[in-house]
Amino acid sequence: MTDSLRINGKRLWDAIMEVARVGATERGGCNRQALTDGDGTVRRIFRDWCEQAGLTVRVDEMGNMFARRPGTNSDLPPVVAGSHLDTQPTGGKYDGILGVLGALEVIRTLNDAGVETLAPLEILNWTNEEGARFSPAMIGSGVWSGQFDLEYGHNRADKEGITIGQELNRLGYAGSEPCRPFPIRAAFEMHIEQGPVLENEGLTIGVVTGVQGMRWYDVKLFGQPVHAGTTPMEVRRDPFMAFHRILARLYELGSQHAPEARVTFGDISVVPGSRNTVPEELKLAVDLRHPEQSSLEAMDAGMRTIVQEEAERANLGYQVDDEWHSSAVAFDAHCISAVRGAVEMLGYPHREMVSGAGHDAVYVSHVAPTSMIFIPCADGISHNEAEDASPADIEAGCNVLLHAMLERANAD
Ligand SMILES: [Zn+2]
Repeated sequence: MTDSLRINGKRLWDAIMEVARVGATERGGCNRQALTDGDGTVRRIFRDWCEQAGLTVRVDEMGNMFARRPGTNSDLPPVVAGSHLDTQPTGGKYDGILGVLGALEVIRTLNDAGVETLAPLEILNWTNEEGARFSPAMIGSGVWSGQFDLEYGHNRADKEGITIGQELNRLGYAGSEPCRPFPIRAAFEMHIEQGPVLENEGLTIGVVTGVQGMRWYDVKLFGQPVHAGTTPMEVRRDPFMAFHRILARLYELGSQHAPEARVTFGDISVVPGSRNTVPEELKLAVDLRHPEQSSLEAMDAGMRTIVQEEAERANLGYQVDDEWHSSAVAFDAHCISAVRGAVEMLGYPHREMVSGAGHDAVYVSHVAPTSMIFIPCADGISHNEAEDASPADIEAGCNVLLHAMLERANAD
């Protein structure tokens, strides 16, 4: 039985602190953006540690790293776990790093205990998750999963015009492994929550069931610019006469899909923007989110109907521009139950939750059974040098990762 196995919390903590020295900032965070010298240094440290643990490291054409521990049945697809080692320019010590070094600690624990698994295990380090130096975010896992093609990935440039392809060559991480999916039995990503829910509820572990879907729009209303004093109200074509009804009805739409729906108006502008003239055009930024794709689509359709009805009622022209979207992700039932089973066996206080942020696990989930494990971070703060997580919570999260990986690796 392996139920009594526990990871070495101090060893994991020391590994996180050692990596945090590379690119350390004065205020206690890290600046180790993708494919900088600092990222190269940490990649070498990580590779050395993997090789010392007896793992075989492969690097693919996007610089993604895969470190493999054989199973007793080498025909089985591996159980994988990982995240990213790059940071924001004013990033913290834990975002991403926890998921990679936690997976390494799982391997070290199994090595110490002499425990073999049926399926092989692999640790992953995805290139440029943060999207801070090279846009977009999650480009390494995005190319790997087929979301973007390789040429697109290699040609992403930073502000100086230096491309990912050039930097991979310079650092020696333009690997020979094809950047494409291979069969995977189960994939896990342990991560700080980057929100306040676990901390506020006094919980240790989030069993992550999916990632919410998001849709961004610019809603435009076109009226007629006329004099504020001389034009009677009933003959005006005033975008604001529709705007206030649209706002009220969209909040109402959100409450029809409560409690998970999010409706946000983050920006508004009017043309010409003169105090004594009815606006000719009003532009409103709308952000709709929901963890269930069907609900998000219902909100999308409802929003379009509301804008059309209210624009017509106020005798206005209108336009709805789609700016960006990301579909809702429901994680794999077996992977979720492996995490839930591990948490219950270990006895940590927990809840199920949906991620409000994007992660490499979103792209991985397109091609492999996937789920995530969240641990609390202080005040929900992330992408910030003040980002903090407690040694006890980190240890707990890694124990959950260990037993979730064992369950999937040894399942029939
Ligand atoms: Zn991250």
